[in-house]
Amino acid sequence: MTTKGLYCPAGQFYIDPSRAVERAVVTHAHSDHARKGSQQYYCVDSGISLLKSRIGKNISVSQYAYGEVFEINGVQISFHPAGHILGSSQVRLELNGEVWVASGDYKREKDPTCEPFEVVTCDVFVTEATFGTPGFTWNANADLGQEILNWWKQNASRGYNSVVFAYSLGKTQRILGELFPLTDKPIYCHPSATEINECYRAHGVPMAATRCLSRVEPDRVLTGELFIVPQSFMNTEHAELLGRKYLTAFASGWMAQRSGGYDHGFLMSDHADWNDLVRTILETKAKKVFVQHRGKGALVKHLKSLGIAAFPDSDLFPKNPDQLSLF
Ligand SMILES: [Zn+2]
Ligand SMILES: [Zn+2]
Repeated sequence: MTTKGLYCPAGQFYIDPSRAVERAVVTHAHSDHARKGSQQYYCVDSGISLLKSRIGKNISVSQYAYGEVFEINGVQISFHPAGHILGSSQVRLELNGEVWVASGDYKREKDPTCEPFEVVTCDVFVTEATFGTPGFTWNANADLGQEILNWWKQNASRGYNSVVFAYSLGKTQRILGELFPLTDKPIYCHPSATEINECYRAHGVPMAATRCLSRVEPDRVLTGELFIVPQSFMNTEHAELLGRKYLTAFASGWMAQRSGGYDHGFLMSDHADWNDLVRTILETKAKKVFVQHRGKGALVKHLKSLGIAAFPDSDLFPKNPDQLSLF
């Protein structure tokens, strides 16, 4: 790992580099993973339209199906579903019989809008740990679509609009996918989500009907409607459509610990919770695990207590070249 991101010296490529590089293998289109300016991108075919809509139509990109093996400078590479958003991938690397997997962002919960997570056995697993502390657990049996529909109906019956704050890429489409079998009523979406919704629909992902806020006449006030918007929406002129009677909710894994400032919270994450992180790491059968993102302290400690050689991702820096092993 370098300051530009995860680097494979044998193959001379980066995974999700934080800056422009020669060869960028990209796990998914979120902005902290896919960045502009690299000479050559590599990604899974179902993620390509999202990648282009986020970082540019004219990028040079090689696309592969899940499981298809290709080579960069002798390193064998394949993408495997991560269950995070449409086209999200884990990256499997193989060289001289040793296998590394970089997870990217992932979750194990069901999500009607993306390919389900696939367990890939490996020698070394580089895992994300956005929610890598024991307090973060999701209810695997929750019916989030029904919960959102019930809240919306209840608010509408009192003459209130319902505003669900959600990221434009991933969470918004997941909510629309969950609502698809439950309602025919169109849902108001922010313009930042409209092109992304179209990418999902073009891939055949069924989602509830939507109406783009940019198409609504500005002097109207709506009643009893559902809005799925980023939080910045409240500072835009479109927010006047809500009138005075509206209630807000945030759909996020962070709702496990705080609910501040919202009328309601939906515990809905596109990342693995604590239990699923631990379960997934065990299922990969990795002998060595590197932990990325927040919460790595708790997870590294817990894995060590289970007898797994676990390290924070800072140990992937070249100052510890012995940790780099083959890659
Ligand atoms: Zn992500
Ligand atoms: Zn991320």
